[in-house]
Amino acid sequence: MEMEDVICKNCGVINDCTLTNKSGQMVATCNNCGKYIKNVPYSEPALYFGKYSGKAINDYFTPDEVNYLHWIRNNPDIWNKKINQRTRDAINLRLDGKIKQFNESEPF
Ligand SMILES: [Zn+2]
Repeated sequence: MEMEDVICKNCGVINDCTLTNKSGQMVATCNNCGKYIKNVPYSEPALYFGKYSGKAINDYFTPDEVNYLHWIRNNPDIWNKKINQRTRDAINLRLDGKIKQFNESEPF
């Protein structure tokens, strides 16, 4: 549910496109005819609870905000149950600069 259908106005194909990130804007290009289709609204991974609800993970900058992400990650009940993989990846990337693979069955 992150993206609406992308329909090429030139040839009519639906959701057969390549998304390219151009200066932070997602741009859809048709795979069939190669034409620009449109800019695509892109929802940044974010937490949808707590004091920073709705804030994009990439916008956590202050020590308080970053400490909050560490706290989230160190809290298995929240980390494993309330956050999807895409958001976990974004948090790992924000905190570590890379994506970590966690075995969710392992206690921390
Ligand atoms: Zn097309």
